[in-house]
Amino acid sequence: MTRPDHADVVIVGGAIVGSAVATFLKRRPDWNGRVLVVERDPTFRTSSTTLSAASIRLQFSTPLNIEISRFGVELIKHLETWLGVDGQPPPEVDFVEGGYLFLASDAGLPILESNHAVQREHGVEVALLTPMELRARFPWLNVDDLAGGSLGLADEGWFDAYALLQAFRRKARSLGAEEVTGEVVEIERDGGRTAGVRLADGRRITADWVVNAAGPRAAGIAAMAGLQLPVSSRKRMVFHFDCRTRVASPLTIDTSGVYFRPEGPNYIAGSSPHGEEPDPDTFDLEVDRSWFEKVIWPAIAHRVPAFEAIRLLDAWAGHYEVNTLDHNAVIGPHPDLPNFLFANGFSGHGLQHAPAAGRALAEWIATGDYETIDMRPLGYERIAANQPYRELNVI
Ligand SMILES: Cc1cc2nc3c(=O)[nH]c(=O)nc-3n(C[C@H](O)[C@H](O)[C@H](O)COP(=O)(O)OP(=O)(O)OC[C@H]3O[C@@H](n4cnc5c(N)ncnc54)[C@H](O)[C@@H]3O)c2cc1C
Repeated sequence: MTRPDHADVVIVGGAIVGSAVATFLKRRPDWNGRVLVVERDPTFRTSSTTLSAASIRLQFSTPLNIEISRFGVELIKHLETWLGVDGQPPPEVDFVEGGYLFLASDAGLPILESNHAVQREHGVEVALLTPMELRARFPWLNVDDLAGGSLGLADEGWFDAYALLQAFRRKARSLGAEEVTGEVVEIERDGGRTAGVRLADGRRITADWVVNAAGPRAAGIAAMAGLQLPVSSRKRMVFHFDCRTRVASPLTIDTSGVYFRPEGPNYIAGSSPHGEEPDPDTFDLEVDRSWFEKVIWPAIAHRVPAFEAIRLLDAWAGHYEVNTLDHNAVIGPHPDLPNFLFANGFSGHGLQHAPAAGRALAEWIATGDYETIDMRPLGYERIAANQPYRELNVI
């Protein structure tokens, strides 16, 4: 029988979160362990990372999420500092600092105002605009049924998610992290500790730490360790369209919940189901184009009359990894299995939160504590106690 391979840290899932954990661990001068990143599909064709809308904002409702995103912006704006390799610049991620614009009706205005107060208190450059001010700034916007809007003035926008993923992977590899192609099918336990993982092809890797970075499949990985994680895989579609009239919009979140933003010379739009609309747990990636006709187009054409005349170019679907307790990430160890670490349940904001999550888990592994952002409010303890740490600005 062949001896199992051994790593100090095995990371299950090698997309943005897994590669961020690997990068920040290997960047540490005080830690010199072996890191293996196990990824079932190194094309990342169906991972959330490559199918996302790739946008970043500071307009969250909790100070912690603001801080977490702020580090994401810092990294994206100074990519060379964080992810440069031997003086070579990382792949260009084409950050467009276009801002987010959250729109509110009369009913939504109090929430917008209270979020605004939190954001201002934490140094976010954000402006609360009246309908008149919105019209003056964005003449293409229908403000008739609006009570106000919140516009990010800096540090918000969109970028190339695949390029960011490649930049992280390249950096992690350059520092000695190893990538293994394979599917984790078993998490081995030795009493109150994780002993390692077993892959579908029979290989065994023993480990001092196992990190769950499996995105929408995170609950399945947790279950392999005998743990419950309330993270559900929910299909989200993105529609890509063009419009003859140029609409220089921020990433705009309409009162209907539908969002749109420029994508190069064109636009993308999407939305999460609301109210009674079904939102099943699924790994299905089929696009339902009738959703564009029924939900997306009426909403965007109402908000931007120029969008009456648009052409749907293409569409795709990906999966949000929804934390059904509170729409926030679960970061850190399981209390009963302290060497099994979660970085899951980002609920649609995991691309922008991956840098801070990766750095936090690297700190935890190397020192047993958080050094920069204290992630304890996002720890598993709240899940066990059924006490939500809720984010209100979920798109
Ligand atoms: C349509 C859409 C729009 C989005 N828009 C944004 C946005 O604008 N901004 C933002 O911040 N976030 C956004 N998100 C969310 C963001 O994409 C995710 O939160 C983030 O990519 C999660 O990264 P991850 O690495 O955890 O998961 P993933 O990217 O899904 O990666 C998980 C990896 O684990 C691998 N894996 C799974 N199981 C196993 C196993 N058993 N063995 C080995 N490997 C395994 C998978 O193959 C996969 O590559 C969006 C998501 C979608 C779907």
